[in-house]
Amino acid sequence: MSTPERKLNASCIKSYDLVVIGAGSGGVRAARIAASHGATTLLAEESRIGGTCVIRGCVPKKLLVYASRMGMEFEDGRGFGWSFQEREFNWGALMGNVANELTRLERAYETTLRSAGVQIANSRAELLGAGRVKLSANGQIISAKHILIATGARPVADESLPGWEFCATSDDVFEWTTQPRRVLVQGAGYIALELACLLVRLGSEVTVVCRSSHILRGFDEDLRVCLQAELSTAGIQFVTQQTLAGVTHVTGGLSAELSDGHRVEVDAVIRAVGRRPNVQGLGLEVASVGTDERGAIAVDEMFQSTAPGIYAVGDVANSIHLTPLAIRDGHAFAQAVFGAGPRPSRLGLVPSAVFTTPELGTVGFSEAEAVRQFGTVEVFIARFRSMKSVLSGRAGKCFFKLVVHGGDGRLLGAHLIGPEAAEMIQLLGIAITAGARKADLDATLAVHPTLAEELVTMRSPTRRYGMSEAA
Ligand code: NDP
Repeated sequence: MSTPERKLNASCIKSYDLVVIGAGSGGVRAARIAASHGATTLLAEESRIGGTCVIRGCVPKKLLVYASRMGMEFEDGRGFGWSFQEREFNWGALMGNVANELTRLERAYETTLRSAGVQIANSRAELLGAGRVKLSANGQIISAKHILIATGARPVADESLPGWEFCATSDDVFEWTTQPRRVLVQGAGYIALELACLLVRLGSEVTVVCRSSHILRGFDEDLRVCLQAELSTAGIQFVTQQTLAGVTHVTGGLSAELSDGHRVEVDAVIRAVGRRPNVQGLGLEVASVGTDERGAIAVDEMFQSTAPGIYAVGDVANSIHLTPLAIRDGHAFAQAVFGAGPRPSRLGLVPSAVFTTPELGTVGFSEAEAVRQFGTVEVFIARFRSMKSVLSGRAGKCFFKLVVHGGDGRLLGAHLIGPEAAEMIQLLGIAITAGARKADLDATLAVHPTLAEELVTMRSPTRRYGMSEAA
């Protein structure tokens, strides 16, 4: 349905059980579940249905990651007897196919929502106070028993940097029509590393400027060191303990000045220095909706904000910025308010992955956190070359770490770097959530030959804390 047709007819709708603002992962799920419980539901979205994850985040990123790995497969194939004359990568063709897929997904989301009975307003929405929302597209005032804010987050623009206007954010990268030959990336979190890695694997020269000594602050220390080494081997140049001082336009590109005065000439600068909740112009003050020190909407365990009847889920709320959490919270909110009582939404372990190549997967306590919290800890580490890389001649090693409670043998954390680490950590997440012990892994028969078999064959601890050697 075209955009004008999606706009609401001002005269036909006045009152709803639920108005959801924002059609990203959390908002879409909440609207669909509420409508399936019979709630009259309006979903207002000023941009495209699907939000960050579908339109300018997880989905296009993963498609680009797949593309970036195909060149490696060609190269690795030589060691397995394949030969070919030439290979050519066409950024425009890839981005065209990605755009088509995003449009398909967007339509699928819209169809699912409409089938569930959700009405969609292609409009920005603002709070006017308790139980009232205004649609900017036609000025219509809507009354709602419940309002859910699910407007997500946006990249930090940080306009204090001289030349910030020449820099791209992750949102812009997914709109690029050509691939820059030389790229500087500021930041060393999920987004910076995923973009840096896919670009280098697609042939760009990539420099990552990171203000700490290592990437991925907050992750297990061994993961930080190992992944940085692997990505250096992949061709990313890391400039650590530096930041970006300014960017200027020069003939043929951009000149990025670093904090030590050094200059790097590039074709594009990507800034990936965090994301901020999307709360501007929502009317939070008018509606007495409180925010925390990061500007996120403060909600309790039932997603209730400081204003009665106004709730928030996803990246706009004081939550971890991950799609599965937004979906889970959107579902839990709708179930609690319109379904048969609260749906359990205990936030236990949060497995996550960084889609670099090699991938990183992590769940549970890092080694340092586990030692701080439990005192007695055993750490099992395996570093090994994959069978595939022997014939392909590709450098780099897999890194697997298990963090185990020194007393009862509970698995406290798992931290992996290697092919399909994201898939492996999802499954290890199940085991750890279910309370698995190291002995359960030991008792599990290996599947051979696989990378994952290393997880069930680690016999001797690499390090022990708070335990006698005889233990
Ligand atoms: P992150 O918080 O992960 O990383 C931000 C990076 O920017 C850090 O390296 C940080 O450095 C650096 N930084 C922040 N401020 C400055 C500054 N003023 N100068 C220089 N460097 C700075 O944010 P992202 O934007 O990468 O991702 C946002 C969130 O989105 C993530 O936390 C994650 O939850 C989610 N996400 C998840 C993905 C996944 O699951 N695969 C993929 C993409 C995003 P320092 O560490 O020193 O503070």
